[in-house]
Amino acid sequence: MRVLLVEDEPNIALPLKEALVDEGFVVEVADDGLRGEAIALQDSWDVIVLDIMLPRLNGYDILKSIRSHNIWTPVIMLTAKDGEYDQADAFDLGADDYLPKPFSFIVLVARLRALVRRGKPERPVVLQVGDLTLDPTTHEVRRGAAPITLTSREYGILHHFMRHAEEVVTKADILQHVWDPDYEGSDNIVEVYVGHLRKKIDTPFGCSSLLTVRGHGYRLMPPVEQGAL
Ligand code: CA
Repeated sequence: MRVLLVEDEPNIALPLKEALVDEGFVVEVADDGLRGEAIALQDSWDVIVLDIMLPRLNGYDILKSIRSHNIWTPVIMLTAKDGEYDQADAFDLGADDYLPKPFSFIVLVARLRALVRRGKPERPVVLQVGDLTLDPTTHEVRRGAAPITLTSREYGILHHFMRHAEEVVTKADILQHVWDPDYEGSDNIVEVYVGHLRKKIDTPFGCSSLLTVRGHGYRLMPPVEQGAL
């Protein structure tokens, strides 16, 4: 079994490589992000272990790049507990599993074997509501053919709405899924962001898809021409 290990810290990478080789894996180590990306793209691997904080190109960008080249090799990400990113980001970008550092070697090997058994994942489905599309792998959002640029918070909210299209979504749902768990401010912040989103996904296209359900929350629907309302 061929494992690509992208990890820049020698005191993690070297003992890990040795231990994986002892377990019968064939292991190549890339100690910076660009090299890791190049090796991932040029060669075929059974599984890729990806650190996040790497010199030259971070693990998220490597993952984005290999998925955008239609390489669906299982990827396990090594996440730092207090990192800037979290597991939700890893899964959105098409990681198959994650392991918070510090991790036990035995757990990593078990996860690697499980991933390889599961095989290559299907390409993640592009979410679609009417002519609005969101690609969880590349983070591209479009209305018809027109690309829409969102901030990461707006993207997170839209992603949640699109996963629950045509359902009533409350402000509390959105806070729970998109904000940090320790956010203690008012849920009025959600209204502000919904306003921003409408200005990007509806207003320029003369349509109305992100509807207010008074007293309950919001509902994302296939768009209605504004003239028809
Ligand atoms: Ca690192």
